[in-house]
Amino acid sequence: TAVVGSLFVVVFSIIALILIAVEVKNVLLPPGTKYAMVFDAGSSHTALYIYQWPADKENDTGIVSQVEACTVAGPGISSYINNPSKAGASLKVCLDKAMTLIPANQQRETPTYLGATAGMRLLRELNSTKADQVLAEVSKAIQEYPVDFQGARILTGNEEGSFGWITVNYLLETLIKFSFSGKWVHPYGTEVLGALDLGGASTQITFQPSGTIEDNSTKVFFRLYGTNYSIYTHSYLCYGRDQALKMLLASLSKVNIAAQQISHPCYPKGYEMNITTAALYDSPCVPATPTSNKTLTFRGTGVPAECRSSIQKLFNLTECGAGKMCGFNGVYQPLVHGQFFAFSGFYYTFNFLNLTSGQSFSTVNTTIWDFCTKDWKELQASYPQEKEVRLSNYCASAFYILTLLHEGYKFNEQTWSNIHFRQQAGNTDIGWTLGYVLNLSNMIPTEAREQVTGHWH
Ligand code: AMP
Repeated sequence: TAVVGSLFVVVFSIIALILIAVEVKNVLLPPGTKYAMVFDAGSSHTALYIYQWPADKENDTGIVSQVEACTVAGPGISSYINNPSKAGASLKVCLDKAMTLIPANQQRETPTYLGATAGMRLLRELNSTKADQVLAEVSKAIQEYPVDFQGARILTGNEEGSFGWITVNYLLETLIKFSFSGKWVHPYGTEVLGALDLGGASTQITFQPSGTIEDNSTKVFFRLYGTNYSIYTHSYLCYGRDQALKMLLASLSKVNIAAQQISHPCYPKGYEMNITTAALYDSPCVPATPTSNKTLTFRGTGVPAECRSSIQKLFNLTECGAGKMCGFNGVYQPLVHGQFFAFSGFYYTFNFLNLTSGQSFSTVNTTIWDFCTKDWKELQASYPQEKEVRLSNYCASAFYILTLLHEGYKFNEQTWSNIHFRQQAGNTDIGWTLGYVLNLSNMIPTEAREQVTGHWH
């Protein structure tokens, strides 16, 4: 019995040691990091965003952060209309990069999405078979990697606006906040932020109006952390920066349809740009005029007043019925309300002009006006690093943004100061991708958690 007894003690001790070792390991090891990836397949380019968060804090706000934003070389996927497999191949550099950043044992559990926006909405309008082929090819390319691929699809304009709004409010912690007492609480008195997104082919406005939303097609409803939100959102297809500037070229050339030399009041004096009619009229945003293919030359004249009025013509500001609240082109919109974050295309141009630190409406006006009078030689000498296509278009982009925000969305001299031009919040880019991940991985609970309710009731 003594031998059996000692044997029992030894076995028992070994089991106890194993249990202690497992416990120590659990305590000492960090809780582990989870990852998710989203491709933002925009009209002008694609970018891969990689996000991470501590595995034990899935449903806390402000916890998801951006690990990497990898810019895919080349144009947006909708440009690969005649060579869809190249659209897939273009993603590989960023996918390879992702595989070096996400630990091997986490890759198969990493949900990976591709969301395409207005460039693909336009391609689908032109040729839905080709759009499907492009989506199939990018899916095939992602499936070659050991990740949890969840599909490639075209987002609706409402989704694009809504997810951008979720991103802004998640990052700025306006939905729920970590209090000084160490609990997650609803930030009473904090109003949610509106989101203004300017892409290459569409622009979105999303905010919580002060009154009711009268057009159901512009209404989205969320229940987040136990609170209901009724949000207004609208996406204007063709009113992204690139398509709007294309509409401007077409509109300028229509003044004299036979002319091959056309004056461009937003281009700097001394600048010339050639474009074929085939390239100009390649988009549903620019209805084709039946002319034979020829090359058009746009000559900059740098006249701000004319630039402004030719850009205003892109907006139908009279279609709105009497007493009806409108944005433009007859689209219903309540009065803008609260603070707004303006990101992507809004930020790039205003950052270039040093207009992102809360300048007044009148300062913004005079800065743009002044910039638009500079001739091409002067501009090139002042900004030698800037690419020609970008530099030559900043005047038009700036007047476009001003007109869109002021005359389109109806921000006035006072409410202008509620617009904050920002690219990032807490080292994370502002755009629809983070909101998309948070939504699809159920990371924003509809109900407040126990400890939260316990605190604020
Ligand atoms: P994105 O947010 O990438 O869809 O871009 C929105 C618009 O901004 C597009 O018209 C792009 O061509 C333009 N854009 C992108 N990056 C820059 C940049 N760094 N500077 C100026 N414009 C940009």
